[in-house]
Amino acid sequence: MHTPLCGHATGEPQQYARRAIEVGLKMIGFSDHAPLVSHKDPSITMDRSQLPVYHHMIESVRAEFDEELEVLVGLEADFIPGYEDLTRAIINAYPYDYVIGSVHFIEKWGFDDPIQMKEWNARDVNDVYREYHRLLRKSALSRLFDVLGHVDLVKKFDFHPTVDITAEIEENARVFKKTGVIVEVNSSGLRKPAKEIYPSLHDLKIYCAKGVPITFGSDAHDPHDVGRDFDKARDLALAAGYKEYVLLKNRKVTHNVLLS
Ligand code: ZN
Ligand code: FE
Repeated sequence: MHTPLCGHATGEPQQYARRAIEVGLKMIGFSDHAPLVSHKDPSITMDRSQLPVYHHMIESVRAEFDEELEVLVGLEADFIPGYEDLTRAIINAYPYDYVIGSVHFIEKWGFDDPIQMKEWNARDVNDVYREYHRLLRKSALSRLFDVLGHVDLVKKFDFHPTVDITAEIEENARVFKKTGVIVEVNSSGLRKPAKEIYPSLHDLKIYCAKGVPITFGSDAHDPHDVGRDFDKARDLALAAGYKEYVLLKNRKVTHNVLLS
């Protein structure tokens, strides 16, 4: 879940926590967009100078909701090749419960940014998909992250490849398994033009067959979206063959929870 610090989320963290209790969650995690390492963009991520404010915010939610709700603090960090050391420095500057690695950029192109959407028309969609999945594998191999976020975000605007890219997904599965990274089942795709959870059933079946663990996220940028469509996310995981999902704390898996 996000906070207003990233410049494109609404609502105070307390409202997210209240909503979580309303929808019956026992544990939530904030993983706001970590400071961008390649350039500054206050409409995408917080600035490095805001990290203390971020931690203070989450601390106060944790204190306020104490017994009612467990509140984890994480980060969603962009994977940008060439900036691994700076990314690591940001991740290691504070203790986190989990760190999500996300690919939102192919070189300088923010391919999921509505403002940069027209660039899709200038690209070969098949090449974009291949490059996206190559970056996902590179992000796993960087070992910077515990979880990979929305692992088919490239479908967000509903552009799809004209060739079968199953081999890319199988290669992802092999690398994710080898590096021990966890795949996030992210319900926010249902609210985007793709109208589909990230990742698709097709891809999730391949990850399941390889034994890649999963966890769940609603990627809420608005209190109303906390835990939204988790019933559908669970059904998707079950349909893919998963029997359990993991919970993290202090950057370690603490529980394997049976799906039911
Ligand atoms: Zn965001
Ligand atoms: Fe993201």
